[in-house]
Amino acid sequence: ENNFLEVDKLQTAFRTDKGEVISVEEVSFQLKPGETIGIVGESGCGKSVTSLSLMRLLGSSGYIKKGTIMFNGKDLTKLTEAEMRQIRGNEISMIFQEPMTSLNPVFTIGNQMLELINLHLKLPAREARAYAIEMLARVGIPRASEIIDEYPHKLSGGMRQRVMIAMALSCKPKLLIADEPTTALDVTIQAQILELMKKLRQESNTAIMIISHDLGVIAEMADKVLVMYAGQVVEEADVFTLFDDPKHPYTKGLMESIPHLEHDSQERLFSIPGTVPTIHQMPKGCRFHTRCQFATEKCAHEKPALLPANPHSGHRVRCWLHTDDQREAPMPSKAEV
Ligand code: SF4
Ligand code: MG
Repeated sequence: ENNFLEVDKLQTAFRTDKGEVISVEEVSFQLKPGETIGIVGESGCGKSVTSLSLMRLLGSSGYIKKGTIMFNGKDLTKLTEAEMRQIRGNEISMIFQEPMTSLNPVFTIGNQMLELINLHLKLPAREARAYAIEMLARVGIPRASEIIDEYPHKLSGGMRQRVMIAMALSCKPKLLIADEPTTALDVTIQAQILELMKKLRQESNTAIMIISHDLGVIAEMADKVLVMYAGQVVEEADVFTLFDDPKHPYTKGLMESIPHLEHDSQERLFSIPGTVPTIHQMPKGCRFHTRCQFATEKCAHEKPALLPANPHSGHRVRCWLHTDDQREAPMPSKAEV
């Protein structure tokens, strides 16, 4: 099957009181129906800005500066706001990390679900309600036929997130963007939600873009992975290659800090010392050099490009350790084919 989403050299910027800052730089990827791409990195690495760029939900100060987002033959960067509204929630759905901000407190769960279902699926009222209840039950909400008439504040955070997921899935989107969809949930619910997303992918051939700081979630869900650091993709590979043969020191650091599932998600911190640089103070050269144990003089001054780590797999890495020789001469193809 063909790619139905092709993001090419996406660059997203924000206007700030210190001038324009580039938040995401040259992100490119493709997605086929039913395929899942994972985007992983610590907070502040540009994962969410990438997904919000696709939805064109960048607020009043954010804008797409360069690049194209081809979705079903349309360049989303060129659509009007009215045209984007047709796509959001219908062809592309998004599950956010904080469900309270996306549910309206003054309407019942049912009002909000039915509005969405009416808008996109145009079912008769009774069928729409039955379908909404079915979707709530499918995401593991007990007594769904009663909960549907509750207001959001009556539900726990985990329940609200499940409602959001039911809403996102109810319109059978072509692309589901899930930004830390299970971060606030306990382990059992998290596993249920991931199972549900997999089932949806299988039944409806929905493509999924899953964003997480948790490599365990990525390993569970993704076919291919982008590792982001400080607004850039630093490594890109199919999920097996990435876990089998990680190249970038940042990716390796993330691997070493894979959390144990028993632990609370908020405690699953990375083992890499230091923090992600802010967009106002990007290090020169390799953006990771301030935290990298392999950094050399060159790393501090010269920017590495995202280049093939292996000519046969589409595995790419932004690191002088792995791509240095490609600068001087083309990399000879490896004998192991
Ligand atoms: Fe570390 Fe240098 Fe590679 Fe950057 S380019 S990740 S500093 S070794
Ligand atoms: Mg985020």
